[in-house]
Amino acid sequence: MLRLVELQLQSRQSLLFGRLAAEHSSTATVATVSSRFRARRARPVAPLHSHFQVVPVRTMSYPPRKGPLYDNLTVLGPDGAVLFRCGRKKFDWYLTHGLATQVDESTIALNFAPKGPGRAGQEWYLEDRQDQCVVCGTKQHLVLVHIVPSQYRRFMPLRVKSRSNIDLQPFCTTCHAEYDTACGLAKKTVAAHYGIPVEGGPWLKRPDWTRARKAASALLSAKIRSKLPTVRMAELVDHVSTVINDPVLMVDDADDHAPVDNLPFTHAQLMAVANLPDAERGDGFVEHGEGVIAAIMAERERRARMMPSPAPSPLPPVAEDEMDVDFEDDGGQEEDYMRDRRAMLPSVPPEHDPLVAFVRMWRMHFLAKARPQFLSPAYDVNADIMNP
Ligand SMILES: [Zn+2]
Repeated sequence: MLRLVELQLQSRQSLLFGRLAAEHSSTATVATVSSRFRARRARPVAPLHSHFQVVPVRTMSYPPRKGPLYDNLTVLGPDGAVLFRCGRKKFDWYLTHGLATQVDESTIALNFAPKGPGRAGQEWYLEDRQDQCVVCGTKQHLVLVHIVPSQYRRFMPLRVKSRSNIDLQPFCTTCHAEYDTACGLAKKTVAAHYGIPVEGGPWLKRPDWTRARKAASALLSAKIRSKLPTVRMAELVDHVSTVINDPVLMVDDADDHAPVDNLPFTHAQLMAVANLPDAERGDGFVEHGEGVIAAIMAERERRARMMPSPAPSPLPPVAEDEMDVDFEDDGGQEEDYMRDRRAMLPSVPPEHDPLVAFVRMWRMHFLAKARPQFLSPAYDVNADIMNP
């Protein structure tokens, strides 16, 4: 029976990867998910097109970055070999601490022997990055976009997040809006696959909020108010009154606090009630990305336990540029990174690692859907996802 379930799960994950990443195939199995979602997972997966059509896809846009995206500065070892590329902050840090000597405007040489070989041989990390949209080549209105959506990325181990350079690509805001739509569809496929809805869950229905929202919307309209019979007006006021002190209501000081006609509410209060949702987060609410990554990590651990345990080996030295990482959505947690690194994730060969498969799936999705025409030939879907 268990074997049957596993086979079904395998075929479902193949479907997911096949759909999202075109020619990419994977043998990774679905992870165990929290019991909250088991009932949902037991349901057959609906045809993909139905997920694509039911809910309108939300698109996001970010303000373009001011100034250059990449400083393209070079750090040499004492022997003159290129160790890695870095940004201005790290470049200046070496100089002000007397750890490097300036060679020219954009190059420094370390005054000490580095612990490791840096990025020698890793073309992606040594070449110049271009300030241009990776899709259309424009140099205007650029944003850096995480190829693994932040919704998942924020729940990944820091060791994965710290190696974000190859998974952080420059888009113009127009191409990004288009790509974000494709990502929205892909997330729905991931959601169906893991049985964890994009909006997370579980949600608790709040019929009182729904009733109050509809009442407030009606009361906000002078035209409707003028036609309401007294009894109906009293009912609507009653519906709004039941929620008016709910702490979920956000009323800003800058809003319009003038009372509406002779109602016991201000305009701002009615506006807040008119924006109430239909449901609130239930007990044990899990965000979509959190649930998906937890499922993947649980599966990863299960596989690690099945692997013959390797002889313990000391951690390799931290590469000199390893701290030059992009934690832009994590607040620059270098100490956390080191702690995370020491915590040692269980070891799983990349070909059996569901986290590797998940990141590579998004890289394939990026190639297939964004069709980047200005991507470096050094881009590698199979590049490591983790720092050592
Ligand atoms: Zn573009």
